[in-house]
Amino acid sequence: MRPIYIVRLDDAHPGQFSQRWDQIEHILDELNIKPIVAIIPENQDESIDYGGGCETAFWEKARQWRSKGWGIAVHGLHHLLRTGYYSVLPISDHSEFSGKPYDEQLSMLTKAVDILRSKGCTPEYFVAPAHGFDDQTLAALKRLDPPLIVSDSFGFRPYIKDDLKFLPQQLWRGRWFPFGVWTICLHPSTMTKADIARFTVFARRNLASFLTQHHRLNFQEQTTLDQFWSWTYEAIFRMKKRLTCRTAATEGRARPC
Ligand SMILES: [Zn+2]
Repeated sequence: MRPIYIVRLDDAHPGQFSQRWDQIEHILDELNIKPIVAIIPENQDESIDYGGGCETAFWEKARQWRSKGWGIAVHGLHHLLRTGYYSVLPISDHSEFSGKPYDEQLSMLTKAVDILRSKGCTPEYFVAPAHGFDDQTLAALKRLDPPLIVSDSFGFRPYIKDDLKFLPQQLWRGRWFPFGVWTICLHPSTMTKADIARFTVFARRNLASFLTQHHRLNFQEQTTLDQFWSWTYEAIFRMKKRLTCRTAATEGRARPC
Protein backbone atom coordinates (compact mmCIF):
# COMPACT_ATOMS: atom_id res chain seq x y z
CA MET A 1 0.00 0.00 0.00
CA ARG A 2 1.26 3.48 -0.73
CA PRO A 3 -0.28 6.96 -0.76
CA ILE A 4 -1.57 8.75 -3.84
CA TYR A 5 -0.82 12.46 -4.17
CA ILE A 6 -2.85 14.76 -6.38
CA VAL A 7 -1.74 18.28 -7.22
CA ARG A 8 -4.39 20.99 -7.49
CA LEU A 9 -3.53 24.37 -8.99
CA ASP A 10 -5.94 27.13 -7.93
CA ASP A 11 -6.91 30.49 -9.42
CA ALA A 12 -6.25 29.93 -13.12
CA HIS A 13 -7.61 32.81 -15.20
CA PRO A 14 -6.36 35.19 -17.91
CA GLY A 15 -4.86 37.61 -15.34
CA GLN A 16 -2.84 34.96 -13.46
CA PHE A 17 0.91 35.39 -12.86
CA SER A 18 1.81 33.57 -16.09
CA GLN A 19 5.55 33.34 -15.48
CA ARG A 20 5.08 31.38 -12.25
CA TRP A 21 2.35 29.21 -13.80
CA ASP A 22 4.71 28.37 -16.66
CA GLN A 23 7.41 27.37 -14.15
CA ILE A 24 5.04 25.01 -12.33
CA GLU A 25 3.70 23.61 -15.61
CA HIS A 26 7.23 22.89 -16.78
CA ILE A 27 8.01 20.95 -13.57
CA LEU A 28 4.76 18.97 -13.70
CA ASP A 29 5.32 18.08 -17.36
CA GLU A 30 8.87 16.98 -16.67
CA LEU A 31 7.64 14.71 -13.86
CA ASN A 32 4.52 13.58 -15.80
CA ILE A 33 2.22 14.71 -12.99
CA LYS A 34 -1.36 15.47 -14.09
CA PRO A 35 -2.86 18.05 -11.72
CA ILE A 36 -6.36 19.39 -11.35
CA VAL A 37 -6.42 22.98 -12.52
CA ALA A 38 -9.12 25.17 -10.96
CA ILE A 39 -10.23 27.72 -13.56
CA ILE A 40 -12.24 30.84 -12.73
CA PRO A 41 -14.62 31.29 -15.69
CA GLU A 42 -15.02 35.10 -15.36
CA ASN A 43 -12.63 36.43 -12.74
CA GLN A 44 -13.72 39.67 -11.05
CA ASP A 45 -11.47 39.35 -7.99
CA GLU A 46 -8.88 42.12 -8.37
CA SER A 47 -6.79 40.75 -5.51
CA ILE A 48 -5.67 37.84 -7.70
CA ASP A 49 -5.37 39.75 -10.97
CA TYR A 50 -1.77 40.33 -11.99
CA GLY A 51 -2.67 42.25 -15.14
CA GLY A 52 -1.63 41.98 -18.74
CA GLY A 53 -3.52 38.75 -19.32
CA CYS A 54 -4.55 37.83 -22.84
CA GLU A 55 -7.94 36.05 -22.99
CA THR A 56 -7.24 34.22 -26.25
CA ALA A 57 -3.83 32.95 -25.14
CA PHE A 58 -5.20 31.84 -21.76
CA TRP A 59 -8.04 29.77 -23.18
CA GLU A 60 -5.69 28.22 -25.74
CA LYS A 61 -3.43 27.26 -22.82
CA ALA A 62 -6.43 25.84 -20.90
CA ARG A 63 -7.34 23.63 -23.87
CA GLN A 64 -3.74 22.38 -23.94
CA TRP A 65 -4.01 21.49 -20.23
CA ARG A 66 -7.10 19.46 -20.98
CA SER A 67 -5.55 17.68 -23.95
CA LYS A 68 -2.51 16.81 -21.79
CA GLY A 69 -4.80 14.91 -19.41
CA TRP A 70 -5.02 17.52 -16.65
CA GLY A 71 -8.26 17.49 -14.67
CA ILE A 72 -10.36 20.62 -15.16
CA ALA A 73 -12.25 22.19 -12.26
CA VAL A 74 -14.70 25.05 -12.27
CA HIS A 75 -13.48 27.45 -9.57
CA GLY A 76 -16.59 29.45 -8.80
CA LEU A 77 -17.92 31.92 -11.33
CA HIS A 78 -16.41 35.34 -10.53
CA HIS A 79 -14.34 34.48 -7.41
CA LEU A 80 -16.01 37.38 -5.61
CA LEU A 81 -15.87 36.49 -1.92
CA ARG A 82 -18.27 37.58 0.81
CA THR A 83 -17.70 36.97 4.50
CA GLY A 84 -19.74 35.82 7.45
CA TYR A 85 -21.78 32.94 6.05
CA TYR A 86 -21.80 29.34 7.25
CA SER A 87 -19.74 26.93 5.16
CA VAL A 88 -19.62 23.14 5.41
CA LEU A 89 -15.85 23.27 6.00
CA PRO A 90 -14.35 25.41 8.78
CA ILE A 91 -11.37 26.56 6.70
CA SER A 92 -12.40 30.17 6.10
CA ASP A 93 -15.49 32.36 6.40
CA HIS A 94 -15.12 33.67 2.85
CA SER A 95 -17.33 32.32 0.09
CA GLU A 96 -18.79 33.13 -3.29
CA PHE A 97 -21.66 30.69 -2.74
CA SER A 98 -22.55 30.21 0.94
CA GLY A 99 -25.70 31.97 2.09
CA LYS A 100 -27.11 32.47 -1.41
CA PRO A 101 -30.46 30.87 -2.32
CA TYR A 102 -30.43 27.50 -4.09
CA ASP A 103 -31.76 28.90 -7.40
CA GLU A 104 -29.06 31.57 -7.52
CA GLN A 105 -26.32 29.05 -6.78
CA LEU A 106 -27.64 26.65 -9.44
CA SER A 107 -27.73 29.44 -11.98
CA MET A 108 -24.13 30.51 -11.09
CA LEU A 109 -22.85 26.95 -11.38
CA THR A 110 -24.68 26.32 -14.65
CA LYS A 111 -23.25 29.52 -16.12
CA ALA A 112 -19.74 28.68 -14.90
CA VAL A 113 -19.85 25.20 -16.46
CA ASP A 114 -21.34 26.56 -19.71
CA ILE A 115 -18.50 29.09 -20.03
CA LEU A 116 -15.82 26.44 -19.62
CA ARG A 117 -17.62 24.12 -22.06
CA SER A 118 -17.87 26.92 -24.62
CA LYS A 119 -14.08 27.37 -24.34
CA GLY A 120 -13.48 23.67 -24.99
CA CYS A 121 -12.61 22.91 -21.35
CA THR A 122 -15.44 20.77 -20.01
CA PRO A 123 -14.92 20.48 -16.23
CA GLU A 124 -15.13 17.30 -14.14
CA TYR A 125 -14.42 18.89 -10.76
CA PHE A 126 -15.79 21.70 -8.61
CA VAL A 127 -13.46 23.78 -6.42
CA ALA A 128 -15.23 26.33 -4.22
CA PRO A 129 -13.29 29.61 -3.89
CA ALA A 130 -11.89 29.83 -0.33
CA HIS A 131 -13.43 26.37 0.41
CA GLY A 132 -16.75 28.18 0.92
CA PHE A 133 -19.85 26.15 0.13
CA ASP A 134 -23.02 25.19 1.98
CA ASP A 135 -25.76 22.57 1.67
CA GLN A 136 -27.48 24.55 -1.10
CA THR A 137 -24.25 24.46 -3.14
CA LEU A 138 -24.13 20.69 -2.79
CA ALA A 139 -27.81 20.38 -3.76
CA ALA A 140 -27.17 22.57 -6.83
CA LEU A 141 -24.09 20.55 -7.81
CA LYS A 142 -26.24 17.42 -7.84
CA ARG A 143 -28.54 19.00 -10.41
CA LEU A 144 -25.74 19.55 -12.92
CA ASP A 145 -25.52 17.02 -15.72
CA PRO A 146 -23.24 15.28 -15.00
CA PRO A 147 -22.70 16.31 -11.36
CA LEU A 148 -19.18 17.60 -10.71
CA ILE A 149 -16.75 15.91 -8.30
CA VAL A 150 -16.23 18.11 -5.23
CA SER A 151 -12.49 18.65 -4.77
CA ASP A 152 -12.66 19.43 -1.03
CA SER A 153 -13.28 17.89 2.41
CA PHE A 154 -11.19 16.20 5.10
CA GLY A 155 -11.42 12.50 4.18
CA PHE A 156 -8.44 10.23 3.59
CA ARG A 157 -9.68 8.78 0.31
CA PRO A 158 -12.29 9.59 -2.37
CA TYR A 159 -15.86 8.80 -1.36
CA ILE A 160 -19.49 9.14 -2.38
CA LYS A 161 -21.96 10.82 -0.04
CA ASP A 162 -25.61 11.57 -0.89
CA ASP A 163 -24.94 10.76 -4.56
CA LEU A 164 -22.07 13.27 -4.82
CA LYS A 165 -18.44 12.33 -5.29
CA PHE A 166 -15.87 13.94 -2.99
CA LEU A 167 -12.14 14.04 -3.58
CA PRO A 168 -10.71 15.32 -0.27
CA GLN A 169 -8.24 18.21 -0.26
CA GLN A 170 -6.22 18.30 2.92
CA LEU A 171 -2.72 19.68 2.20
CA TRP A 172 -1.15 22.95 1.10
CA ARG A 173 2.36 21.54 0.81
CA GLY A 174 3.86 18.10 0.30
CA ARG A 175 3.76 15.92 3.41
CA TRP A 176 4.47 12.22 3.56
CA PHE A 177 1.75 9.77 4.62
CA PRO A 178 1.96 5.98 4.58
CA PHE A 179 -1.45 5.54 2.87
CA GLY A 180 -4.48 7.49 1.65
CA VAL A 181 -5.29 9.90 -1.18
CA TRP A 182 -4.00 13.42 -0.58
CA THR A 183 -4.69 16.54 -2.61
CA ILE A 184 -2.00 19.21 -2.33
CA CYS A 185 -3.44 22.64 -3.17
CA LEU A 186 -1.00 25.12 -4.70
CA HIS A 187 -1.54 28.72 -5.81
CA PRO A 188 1.11 29.14 -8.53
CA SER A 189 0.60 32.92 -8.84
CA THR A 190 1.78 33.50 -5.26
CA MET A 191 4.40 30.77 -4.92
CA THR A 192 7.90 31.96 -4.07
CA LYS A 193 11.10 30.41 -5.42
CA ALA A 194 11.45 28.58 -2.10
CA ASP A 195 7.87 27.23 -2.32
CA ILE A 196 8.50 25.93 -5.82
CA ALA A 197 11.82 24.37 -4.80
CA ARG A 198 10.23 22.70 -1.73
CA PHE A 199 7.39 21.27 -3.81
CA THR A 200 9.80 20.02 -6.49
CA VAL A 201 11.95 18.19 -3.94
CA PHE A 202 8.87 16.52 -2.42
CA ALA A 203 7.49 15.57 -5.86
CA ARG A 204 10.78 14.05 -7.01
CA ARG A 205 11.13 12.06 -3.78
CA ASN A 206 7.60 10.69 -3.96
CA LEU A 207 7.12 10.61 -7.71
CA ALA A 208 5.77 7.06 -7.89
CA SER A 209 2.86 8.13 -5.67
CA PHE A 210 1.67 11.07 -7.79
CA LEU A 211 -1.51 10.74 -9.83
CA THR A 212 -0.94 10.49 -13.57
CA GLN A 213 -4.42 9.41 -14.73
CA HIS A 214 -7.57 10.92 -13.27
CA HIS A 215 -9.87 8.09 -14.36
CA ARG A 216 -7.99 5.75 -12.03
CA LEU A 217 -9.43 7.40 -8.92
CA ASN A 218 -11.71 5.00 -7.10
CA PHE A 219 -14.82 6.38 -5.35
CA GLN A 220 -16.73 4.26 -2.82
CA GLU A 221 -19.72 4.99 -0.59
CA GLN A 222 -18.63 6.84 2.54
CA THR A 223 -18.12 4.43 5.45
CA THR A 224 -18.03 4.94 9.23
CA LEU A 225 -14.24 4.88 8.97
CA ASP A 226 -14.34 7.73 6.43
CA GLN A 227 -16.65 9.73 8.73
CA PHE A 228 -14.48 9.10 11.76
CA TRP A 229 -11.39 10.23 9.85
CA SER A 230 -13.16 13.41 8.66
CA TRP A 231 -14.33 14.33 12.18
CA THR A 232 -10.89 13.68 13.66
CA TYR A 233 -9.11 15.67 10.96
CA GLU A 234 -11.62 18.52 11.30
CA ALA A 235 -11.19 18.57 15.10
CA ILE A 236 -7.39 18.78 14.75
CA PHE A 237 -7.77 21.49 12.08
CA ARG A 238 -10.07 23.58 14.33
CA MET A 239 -7.72 23.19 17.30
CA LYS A 240 -4.67 24.28 15.26
CA LYS A 241 -6.63 27.25 13.88
CA ARG A 242 -7.67 28.36 17.40
CA LEU A 243 -4.08 28.10 18.61
CA THR A 244 -2.82 30.13 15.64
CA CYS A 245 -5.45 32.80 16.30
CA ARG A 246 -4.67 32.92 20.02
CA THR A 247 -0.95 33.27 19.35
CA ALA A 248 -1.61 36.04 16.82
CA ALA A 249 -3.83 37.87 19.32
CA THR A 250 -1.22 37.52 22.10
CA GLU A 251 1.47 38.93 19.83
CA GLY A 252 -0.83 41.77 18.77
CA ARG A 253 -0.89 40.71 15.13
CA ALA A 254 -4.15 41.45 13.35
CA ARG A 255 -5.61 38.21 12.09
CA PRO A 256 -9.27 37.62 11.24
CA CYS A 257 -10.32 34.44 13.10
ZN1 LIG B 1 -9.39 30.72 -5.47
